[in-house]
Amino acid sequence: MAPVQNSGATNRARVVVNFGAELLIETTQGELIRAKPRRGATLPVCGDWVSYQMADTQTARIDSIEPRASALYRPQGRHRKRVMAANVNQLLVVIAPEPAPDAFLIDRYLVAAEVEGISARLVLNKWDLVTSEQAPYYESLLNEYESLGYAVHRVSVPREIGLQRLKEAIDEHLSILVGQSGVGKSSLTRILIASSEVKVGALSEATGTGQHTTTATTLYHVPSGGDILDSPGVRDFKLWTMPISDIAQGFIEFCSQRPCRFHNCTHRDEPECGIRDAAQSGDISPRRYESYLRLVRELT
Ligand code: GDP
Repeated sequence: MAPVQNSGATNRARVVVNFGAELLIETTQGELIRAKPRRGATLPVCGDWVSYQMADTQTARIDSIEPRASALYRPQGRHRKRVMAANVNQLLVVIAPEPAPDAFLIDRYLVAAEVEGISARLVLNKWDLVTSEQAPYYESLLNEYESLGYAVHRVSVPREIGLQRLKEAIDEHLSILVGQSGVGKSSLTRILIASSEVKVGALSEATGTGQHTTTATTLYHVPSGGDILDSPGVRDFKLWTMPISDIAQGFIEFCSQRPCRFHNCTHRDEPECGIRDAAQSGDISPRRYESYLRLVRELT
């Protein structure tokens, strides 16, 4: 890594690798610098924009973290949560015919996205494995989400189907890929980031920590535009405890229904509930309503 001038000035950079206490930041000029937070200060996470000063010719000291547009969390114990990634603005929910999709899991991810104000897309990977008998089932699953307003993608890594459109969707976003183990998140990430992987390998060496990016959360630049934030931990991010009103907000079709009698209706057993009525009449998918009830039971 080339030495950086110690001007004493405060500069702006983005955290691109998070090894825990040690970070790599990328300056607005594209320079990569090893960085450490101030002692006792809040730890920045991957995706954070920070201001820094050079502590010496090789190492930057993070002075402050800019307010986050969004944050992804992982629960820590029963009542606490830990930030895992900042400023992600697109969630790619990956499903596949193998392992079989779980629509509740999809709903769970979409609620997380809605609550954090992150846009979401559904990616059906391994499209090459879908047989003509199975196709109607997958089409109806995708149609259900498409009719709610979510963009959907049919993709195959080995056959290179749908990859160009996926790249276009990633452009100008900081995206993460989430979904069950084995659906193809790593394969897709590898193919999307292509050559930037090499750069990240060099990056990790530059930190001299010996830790490689298999565990560190890393922000990769996609050569065709946009960024992907990835690590095993980020891929497994979970919803945290949240109020019922947030869960309801996560079901985007709920807001277009007839108002409930009570303004603080939880849509479970109150009289004259617009949401429950809509689920009974089929204006809302009864399956999505069941997902809502299950999330309320699990998260509140
Ligand atoms: P992850 O656990 O979600 O990261 O999944 P991986 O990327 O490790 O993929 C799991 C397996 O699915 C690997 O054997 C991949 O080669 C395979 N795979 C990934 N994408 C596709 C695809 O589009 N079609 C097929 N047939 N296999 C795929």
